Amino acid sequence: MPHTFANSVTFAATITTDCGIEGTGYTYTGGIGGVAIAKMIEIDLVPRLVGKEIDDLTKFNLYMNNAIHYVARGGIASFAISALDIALWDAKLKAENKAVADVFGTRQDEVMTYHGGIDLMLSNKELLDSIEAKLQQGHNAVKIKVGRENMDEDIERVRLVRELIGKGAWFAVDANMVMSVAEAIKFTNAIEKYDIAWFEEPSNPDKYADYAEIARNTSIPIAMGENLHTQYEHEMAFDIGNVKEIIPDCSNVCGITGFFGVAQMADVRGLKVNSHGMQELHVNTVGAVTNAGMVEFHSFPIYEYVKEALVVKNGKLSPSQAAGIGVTFDWELINKAKLN
Ligand SMILES: [Mg+2]
Repeated sequence: MPHTFANSVTFAATITTDCGIEGTGYTYTGGIGGVAIAKMIEIDLVPRLVGKEIDDLTKFNLYMNNAIHYVARGGIASFAISALDIALWDAKLKAENKAVADVFGTRQDEVMTYHGGIDLMLSNKELLDSIEAKLQQGHNAVKIKVGRENMDEDIERVRLVRELIGKGAWFAVDANMVMSVAEAIKFTNAIEKYDIAWFEEPSNPDKYADYAEIARNTSIPIAMGENLHTQYEHEMAFDIGNVKEIIPDCSNVCGITGFFGVAQMADVRGLKVNSHGMQELHVNTVGAVTNAGMVEFHSFPIYEYVKEALVVKNGKLSPSQAAGIGVTFDWELINKAKLN
């Protein structure tokens, strides 16, 4: 499914505690569902939270999920809950003067990152040029989109990128759900020789048994997460889909609470946890756990609206030391963007 920048909608929710501490959370969409998310926050969720003691955030998350479960489990509800959960974490951590990466006492000094390109429609030359530019900026790991109408073109692009980045460099592919099971198996068999770290969302992410079938027919680990919006869906991805690389996103998995829930599920299965998009926040959540995987450095331009830009050095990022979620928006820039 194509991503469009122009229609991307980002929400921020700010809560204020009675001690005057402000917590900010956010989520984003590809341009659809934004009004419904905002209304659910405003009408169904916020009135239930006002006046409550911010204590156990897992309990809060369950409370919000239970409140809307009958009409809206997953989807829009998970985006709405995500923004509020992140805001609650921000306020709680600021009150405790603690950074996200320190919540379990297992801060990682550095986490590995890869550049996730939106590059399916680029020509081969443009694709290689775009990767070359990312390598110049400090990246050494990349993921490209696959799923062109002619599979031979995908296979050739994989070959060209491997040649460019060199043997041993981390390299993954992402089909954004467009292949059939048979196509996905055929494709994996053709690219196994290029040492692929994972094959992301080969096919319809609702069909976990299909993922298991693809996984049975390749040595390349199968990955998913961005289209799974509850912890229960992630559990099915592990246990039915045989997914070995999980990629949750705080913006749609019911926030930081949901992300840490998935990280824990991965850990008990001996797996790492990665992240999708929102790298400014995910560097801190991935940096909090001992089973830290790869942080996707995405092209969605949220980073243009935050105060501390992330610096990539040799394919690594450093989690924030700041109290709270470690993401501070530049409201002046956001308000200007709103007018455009
Ligand atoms: Mg993806």
